[in-house]
Amino acid sequence: MKINPLIDELITLLGIENIIYGKDLDQKYHHVWKMDEPLKALALVMPKSTKQVSQIMKICFKNNQEVIIHGGLTNLVGGTESKRHQLVISLEKMNKIEEIDQKSRTVTVQSGVILENLINSVSDKNLLLPLNFGAKGSAHIGGAISTNAGGLRVLKYGMVRQMILGLEVVLPDGKVISSLKKIIKDNSGYDLKQLFIGSEGTLGIVTKAVLKLIEAPSTRHSAILGTNNYENVINLLKTLEKGLGGILSAFELMWGNTYRTMIEKSTSLISPINQDYDYYVFVETLGSNKEKDYSLLHNLIEKALEDNIILDGSLAETDKELNNLWQIREDVSILDSNANYAQHFDISIPIPLIGNLVDSITKNLKKLSFVQNIYTWGHVADGNIHFIVGKENNSIDIIKKVNEIVYEPLKENNGSISAEHGIGLDKKNYLIKSRSKSEIELMKQIKHLFDPKKILNPGRII
Ligand SMILES: Cc1cc2nc3c(=O)[nH]c(=O)nc-3n(C[C@H](O)[C@H](O)[C@H](O)COP(=O)(O)OP(=O)(O)OC[C@H]3O[C@@H](n4cnc5c(N)ncnc54)[C@H](O)[C@@H]3O)c2cc1C
Repeated sequence: MKINPLIDELITLLGIENIIYGKDLDQKYHHVWKMDEPLKALALVMPKSTKQVSQIMKICFKNNQEVIIHGGLTNLVGGTESKRHQLVISLEKMNKIEEIDQKSRTVTVQSGVILENLINSVSDKNLLLPLNFGAKGSAHIGGAISTNAGGLRVLKYGMVRQMILGLEVVLPDGKVISSLKKIIKDNSGYDLKQLFIGSEGTLGIVTKAVLKLIEAPSTRHSAILGTNNYENVINLLKTLEKGLGGILSAFELMWGNTYRTMIEKSTSLISPINQDYDYYVFVETLGSNKEKDYSLLHNLIEKALEDNIILDGSLAETDKELNNLWQIREDVSILDSNANYAQHFDISIPIPLIGNLVDSITKNLKKLSFVQNIYTWGHVADGNIHFIVGKENNSIDIIKKVNEIVYEPLKENNGSISAEHGIGLDKKNYLIKSRSKSEIELMKQIKHLFDPKKILNPGRII
C-alpha cells in the first residue's frame, strides 16, 4: 500500500521497525517533561548508523523535506518541537560507545549515547568525563554537543566545547564531514567542529564524537553552606578558590525560597542545614588525597564560619549525605512541576552584579499580578543564573512581559540571554539583546552556506 512516497522510501531504506508514523506517533513526544503531548510530525525515523543518517538527509534534501533532530529531549528552549509536515530524526538507536582508549584518555561515541551511561562506562575504567548536569539521565551526548552544555563542573573543566577533540557530522545535503581525531592540538586551518558545537542542530547532525577524558579523581567531598548576604557568597568563592588549591570543582547557588520549595515539595530530600537562609551554596571538591582534601575543606568552612562569611554549613560524611545534597541542587523538575505555565531562563551576568540584578528582576516580576512563583538558582561561579517563573496562564502577552523583565538589564550589563540552554524557538526574538545586528547577519550567512534549502532544524536560533 502506498502511504506517502517519502515515507515509503524511508521504510525501504531503514526497515519498518525503524520508522514511526500515523497514529503510532501518539506514543512519541517532543520533551521528557511533556510525555502526555503526542508528537506532531510526518514520521519519526531512528537510524542506526552515520550512513543511514546521510541517506535520510539525501532523500530529504532532494525532496525539500524539513527535518527536526531529536536527542534526549531535555532542552528548555523548544528546540525539539515539530510540526505535522516535518520529519523527526531521533538519534536514540545510535547509542554505541565505540572505544574507550585508556592510553590516549579518549572515548569515541555515537551521538545517541545517554550522558549518564557514558559517565558510568568511562568511570569503570577509572576515567572521568567531567560533564555533569541534572538532565544527564536522559540527555544524549549529541544533544549536549549541539547545545554546548555546561553544568555543575564548568568552573574547573569548562563546557562541552572544551571536551571535544573530534566530530563527525552529516550536513543537510547528506554529505558526511568526519574528523574523529584524538589529538589535542590541530591548527591546520579552520577548526570546523566548533561551528557545530552549540549550533543546536541548525548546521548539521552530529553522529559521532571523540571526547577528552581525565584520570578519575579518587576523592570527592561536598558541602552545603548558608548565608544571608550575596557579598559573602563572592567572599566564600574567593576563599575556597584560594584555599583549595585547584580541587574546587563546583560552586553552585540556590536562593532561599527555591531551596525551601525543593525540600518541602520533595518526598525524599532532607535539608542538611537550617532552612532560614537567603542563600545556599553547594560546594564540591575532586582530588586525590582523601584526608588532606577533607581537612582542607573542613578547615576553610570553620574559618568562614568564624569570619561570619557563612552562618551555617554541613560537610557530607557519607555517600548517602553527598547524594542527598546534590539531589537538592539537581532535581529541579520539582520546581518545574510546582510552577504553572513555567517559563525557564538561563541568563549570564557578571558575577559581582548577580545579587543586585536578581533582586531587582525578582522585585519587578512580583509586581506582575499574574506571576505566581519565581525560583532562582545557578552556576554562580560561571555567572550563570536560572529562573523559573510560574504564571496564571500562557498568553503571548504574559510570556512577553515576563521575558522583557528578565532580559531588560542584560544588554547594558554585558550579559547574555542564554548561558547554556541555547536559543531554540523560545528565545529567538530576543537574540538581539545578546548579539549585534552584524553578528546575527553573519550567523544567517553561515546557516545559508550549510543549509541553503533551510531544511535542518528550521526556525531555530535565527
Ligand atoms: C533538569 C534539567 C537540568 C539541566 N541542566 C543543564 C545544565 O546544567 N547545563 C546545561 O547546559 N543544560 C542543562 N539542561 C538543558 C539540557 O539538558 C541540555 O541542553 C542538553 O545538552 C540537551 O541534550 P538532549 O540530548 O536532551 O538534546 P535535545 O533536547 O534532544 O536537543 C537539544 C537541541 O539539539 C539538537 N540536537 C539534539 N541531538 C542532536 C544531534 N545529534 N545533532 C545535532 N543536533 C542535535 C535538537 O534538535 C535541539 O535543537 C538541563 C535540562 C533539564 C531538564
